[in-house]
Amino acid sequence: MPGFEIFGEEEKKEIMEVLDTGVLFRYEFPNERKGIYKVRTFEEKFAAYCGVKYGQAVTSGTAALKVAMAALGIGPGDEVITQGFTFVATWEAVLEIGAIPVFAEVDETLNLDPADLEKKITAKTRLIIPVHMMGAAARIEEIKAIADRHNIPVLEDTAQAAGASLNGRRLGSFGACGTFSFDPVKTMTTGEGGMIVSNDAKLWRQMSEYHDHGHDHAVNPGGRGGEGRSFIGSNYRMMELQGAIGLAQLAKLDGIVAAQQENKGAIKKLVAKLPGVTFRVILDEKGDNASFLAFFLPTREKAQAVNKVLGDNGAGAVYFANNTWHYYPKWEHLLAGATLAKSGWPFQEADGRRRVVYDPAALPQSAAIIDRLLVYPVPVKLSEERLGQIAAALDKAVSALS
Ligand SMILES: *Cc1c(COP(=O)(O)O)cnc(C)c1O
Repeated sequence: MPGFEIFGEEEKKEIMEVLDTGVLFRYEFPNERKGIYKVRTFEEKFAAYCGVKYGQAVTSGTAALKVAMAALGIGPGDEVITQGFTFVATWEAVLEIGAIPVFAEVDETLNLDPADLEKKITAKTRLIIPVHMMGAAARIEEIKAIADRHNIPVLEDTAQAAGASLNGRRLGSFGACGTFSFDPVKTMTTGEGGMIVSNDAKLWRQMSEYHDHGHDHAVNPGGRGGEGRSFIGSNYRMMELQGAIGLAQLAKLDGIVAAQQENKGAIKKLVAKLPGVTFRVILDEKGDNASFLAFFLPTREKAQAVNKVLGDNGAGAVYFANNTWHYYPKWEHLLAGATLAKSGWPFQEADGRRRVVYDPAALPQSAAIIDRLLVYPVPVKLSEERLGQIAAALDKAVSALS
């Protein structure tokens, strides 16, 4: 599943080049850094890999969402539509920027359902964030067409789908921008880190300046140089050590995906023996980064019964219906409007009125899908021994079902 499995000599070599200069900062120090700009080079190579013009590195995938939304002009009074099956970071960032997350259904792609998306659009909708969950594409072409009709930008949360594509085009390159995460469990990792990719030069300059305290980058695109500031910013700068690791990991990304595709195929053959099993709808098998194998049992009871047997035999799958990090009805803090702010922000206005109330039963279509869903993370390295253990556990589950 993640790049940490293959962390090795290449990463160490890149890191040592930075340590040899002693310059950990991505900007300035022209004499000391001896021409080494790791973050800058990582941005250029990652953007090229995605087939877009610009890359903006930041400190995390969450920061990538926030910086992208800031540049897109999102803030209080705005609604942002995303899906009810995603990591909490997607909507945390929306609340942090002051906007309100609106949750739409997923379909059997396990990603945003275009039909429900269209129903959730209001006069306040300012952004749509489809999430390419678990390495495979959302119906991004349909989503983009709906968004275009309503003149609303699309930000692709591509945190889980580095290296994935749809019909030959990289995920993250369809919308106004795409955001990536390089946290420790993502397909490629820099320890902590994120990236925003875009073809829009103005958006890139705004992200570049916003993430660097508003420093003027106009005279030196992607870098500093000008005086004065056009707007307030903050600090989400990636450091050189992360950029160095990113370069080594990016060079391995296609190899990671190829290994995962092979291993996913091997596990899928075994899972296919389960009576009544069906698989997640993958729009483009070749473009799947294959980090996960997702499958459905006919009923909730069967999914739980199968997973009990798998778990008892050392090969339990993830049952997302009980997962408190990725699924709407389990986000108790969101549903309760729990916050550290004494004012109740972002769930309450200054006068105490609730800005938004979430109903745990609001996404029945997603519930009907996720209740029957089991997921195996797919490793980059899969030993014969582990595959044998999964096979034996699945044989037991087949017997238990019949
Ligand atoms: C991991 C993840 C993020 C956040 O990335 P971090 O680097 O951990 O902040 C955002 N969205 C999704 C869908 C993710 O899986």
